Amino acid sequence: MAKTTSAAKFVYFFGGGKADGNESMKNLLGGKGANLAEMAGHPNLRLPVPPGFTITTEVCTWYYQNNKTFPQVLQKQVAESIHRMEKLTGKTFGDITNPLLVSVRSGARKSMPGMMETILNVGLNEQTIKGLIARSGDERFAYDAYRRLIMMYADVVMEKAAGIEPKNGKGIRKLLDEKLEKVKQSKGYFSDTDLTVGDLKALVKEYKATVLKVLGKAFPEDPNEQLWGGIGAVFASWNGRRAIEYRRIEKIPDDWGTAVNIQAMVFGNMGNDSATGVAFTRNPGNGENRFYGEYLVNAQGEDVVAGIRTPAPVNEYSKNPQSEHLPTLEKRMPQLYKELYTYQKRLEKHYKDMQDIEFTIEKGTLYMLQCRVGKRNGIAAVRMATEMYSEKLIDIHTAIKRVAPNQLIELLLPMIDPKAEQVNPVIAKGLPAGPGGAKGRVVFSSAEAVEWAHRGEKVVLVREETSPEDVDGMHKSQAILTTKGGMTSHAALVARGWGKCCIVGCGDIEIHQENKTFRANGTLIKEGDWITLNGTKGFVYEGSLPLVDIDLDKNQSYNDLMKLVSKVKVMAVRTNAETPHDAEQGLRFGAEGIGLFRTEHMFYGENSEQPLFLLRKMIVSKTAKERKTALNDLFVFVKKDIKATLEVMKGYPVTIRLLDPPLHEFVPHDSAKLHELSRELGISMSLLRRRVLALHENNPMLGHRGVRLGISYPEITEMQVRAIFEATAELLKDGKKAFSEIMVPVTCTVNELTHQKKIVDRVYKEVCENKGLAAIPYLYGTMIEIPRAAIKADHMAEVADFFSFGTNDLTQMSFGFSRDDIGGFLPVYLDEKLLHDDPFQTIDQEGVGLLIRMGTEKGRKTKPHLKVGICGEHGGDAESVKFCHRIGMNYVSCSPFRVPIARLAAAHAAIEDAETSAKNKSKPALPAPTNGKVSKKHRLAIS
Ligand code: ADP
Ligand code: MG
Ligand code: MG
Repeated sequence: MAKTTSAAKFVYFFGGGKADGNESMKNLLGGKGANLAEMAGHPNLRLPVPPGFTITTEVCTWYYQNNKTFPQVLQKQVAESIHRMEKLTGKTFGDITNPLLVSVRSGARKSMPGMMETILNVGLNEQTIKGLIARSGDERFAYDAYRRLIMMYADVVMEKAAGIEPKNGKGIRKLLDEKLEKVKQSKGYFSDTDLTVGDLKALVKEYKATVLKVLGKAFPEDPNEQLWGGIGAVFASWNGRRAIEYRRIEKIPDDWGTAVNIQAMVFGNMGNDSATGVAFTRNPGNGENRFYGEYLVNAQGEDVVAGIRTPAPVNEYSKNPQSEHLPTLEKRMPQLYKELYTYQKRLEKHYKDMQDIEFTIEKGTLYMLQCRVGKRNGIAAVRMATEMYSEKLIDIHTAIKRVAPNQLIELLLPMIDPKAEQVNPVIAKGLPAGPGGAKGRVVFSSAEAVEWAHRGEKVVLVREETSPEDVDGMHKSQAILTTKGGMTSHAALVARGWGKCCIVGCGDIEIHQENKTFRANGTLIKEGDWITLNGTKGFVYEGSLPLVDIDLDKNQSYNDLMKLVSKVKVMAVRTNAETPHDAEQGLRFGAEGIGLFRTEHMFYGENSEQPLFLLRKMIVSKTAKERKTALNDLFVFVKKDIKATLEVMKGYPVTIRLLDPPLHEFVPHDSAKLHELSRELGISMSLLRRRVLALHENNPMLGHRGVRLGISYPEITEMQVRAIFEATAELLKDGKKAFSEIMVPVTCTVNELTHQKKIVDRVYKEVCENKGLAAIPYLYGTMIEIPRAAIKADHMAEVADFFSFGTNDLTQMSFGFSRDDIGGFLPVYLDEKLLHDDPFQTIDQEGVGLLIRMGTEKGRKTKPHLKVGICGEHGGDAESVKFCHRIGMNYVSCSPFRVPIARLAAAHAAIEDAETSAKNKSKPALPAPTNGKVSKKHRLAIS
């Protein structure tokens, strides 16, 4: 914690080939500050960075803990650093003849693009501007810088930081912007660069008057007041509405705080030999290893990102349909381009990752203003990771860690059905900023996007450009479409970070905000109309086109990554599947078995008519004899079903869960169905109704279900077990491989397992004899989903060969939260931070996780090779998967589409493990995973 002793160092200087800080000090200096220090000071880099200094994040913490004031010594340290800057630049802060101007820039540990504030040209006033004009010989430029300062300062310091920002969005920036637009319009100007000295001078006057009138305070002339106002405003922006919103979405802790960077200004707006730009060392859209970027001549700072003018490409490769007519930087300033190219190469080699770079050219001199690890979409992340690995830039562990498990979702993302794309005309083309296909109903404001989404509508947000104010609406939209801006615009950056479908710079579209419509080459689209976007190509379609899944097998980088994953991953990943189709899907995604095959699936949906009728017959049967007849008929279906899936799985283990849900779920309630049943059973309707009524339960979730059914109706278990053994036996006799694991659900005592095991043993013997087989490989185990079963796991393991934690029910019963009713209260728990996450989405590691861990350990005390896994939603959640690895599970199981994600998460977990044990050089506290090892006998069929 920051102590305000005189020894405390609150300020870190960089410049003149040296730096107090470096890249490893992100927590203290923020990302921007740490990287500025690295670029300026590291012997491998030594790039031309304008000198400056960073005020640490500790000061931010101090500021908030001390009633928004600064530690005393800060004043002195800042003054000293400004003095050093003056020495290096030969300019003086506040000087009338040769004034030093500075930027005041925010910079948190993790980049929060555009969420916090930056003020440029600090130090300009009616006096110092004279010096700037004299030195630059360019009055127009000086006034352009001045009007920018007034606008930024009024907005950031005098309004936002003061907390007087009006809610309607009509803040001071907007008012001043309107004044500028008015001048442009009345004079028929096309771009900001058309404004003359006279226009700008008049604007400065008008700006000042407006500031005084609207904010009740004059723009401060004193450079020092400007500087300290700016510093305070950057700290205040940490708790600005947008920043808070962004942190919530990105899960960035509120107490990290931001650093402040003060840096000597360099000017990209000093004429046609000046420019500013943003570039990436590799293409962030698709991962290709090519230098990619955009720039604007005679522009300053935000102009590129704000999308005010269409930026030009830095080289041929960066051209797009909107910018292909514009001259590249390579052509226009070949020498500087070469220099920039060398720097970007050096940066990537040094950081060993794709860098996002800000640069400015002032009168033919290149300056580097920022570098950071560039955001990329999932497709690009996979490609960069695998290519950097083959280029030997990074090792296997780094390559795997470079891709976040959830980023794979983008590779599994739906695309517009190509057939539909062939027959539907493209109504507009823009830049492909975020890949995948998406569709929704058009809305024109962020607020509407939020509102519509809350109503359950799927929306596409259509804007001229987005600003950080729009993040919430962007987040809630299926896709984002902007008419302005380039690949480095705000919308593109944010969408890329989230892996959201996004098209920017779609100049074909003209928005008519007042009547909530847009026109695209003759097509009129109104609010609420459906549109479909191809974010991979940048195409817009009218209407709702069908989306289809993409073909992963053809993605070379994905396959390369998965090969690496297989090398390091320890824990197995299975899929939940109950049809041959799902099973095949899972195998294609790399599943190493089925962790949950629900027998009841055959009673739902397609082709369920007949089995469902037979099940119903069985349910309303009164005598064992009636029930047996119904079960005999049902047996045929169950066996066929199981056999088909076992066959697809070719000997990979298939965990088959015995019938789980409460029976009354299947009882018909419409009278036609009831009549049919009564006819079939030969009983009267009133008798049937009575039987149905008798099945009613007050709390079915805790009622007559799971193993309890098998105990009260042993013939149900018998039928299923026979189906499993016969299916396996028949496949084996055909020379195929099959391996099943019989799983008993909803158990709470070992006695239940013993009871059911007797049935299993008897049927096993019968089937072996009938089929003439000496043995049929299988395992007998149970789901652990009732807390008591976890507590008594040592006993459960006396009979069970495996455990599969049913974490959905285990969470429900541990918390006492009804899974079906959490909607009423869980949101409040999350808002009030009583709970950090929804425990049904990610395992509650400290509570439910404790039960799982204890259950695993106790079970393995009884049976050291007890196989342990989980099934349920958590198996596809990256954090939960890592947890399962840490406690030594053999496998996790999840839906087919989550399999790649779980595999990658399992690899991450193995790497983290290796890293910590390398660090501790001690044995891990927990037993190493046994990696699915079971007794040889049982593996017969697998090998
Ligand atoms: P953000 O975190 O939103 O990117 P920055 O602090 O990078 O904000 O600043 C916003 C813009 O101002 C960027 O384009 C940056 O390059 C430019 N800028 C910041 N400091 C300077 C400076 N000293 N000289 C010239 N341009 C600057
Ligand atoms: Mg920046
Ligand atoms: Mg369950």
